[in-house]
Amino acid sequence: MGISRILCLIGLHRWEKKGGHTEFSSNVREKYFMCSRCGKRKTVYEAK
Ligand SMILES: [Zn+2]
Repeated sequence: MGISRILCLIGLHRWEKKGGHTEFSSNVREKYFMCSRCGKRKTVYEAK
């Protein structure tokens, strides 16, 4: 197990932007990220 895997285990992922989506009817912008090490995904919402 390398150091990078340990970082993922404690929640310090290496996020890469995978795309985004803007819902015109809402006030937020969605951004999708995926960890390049473990493959975990997350979605972030940003105010416009
Ligand atoms: Zn990760």
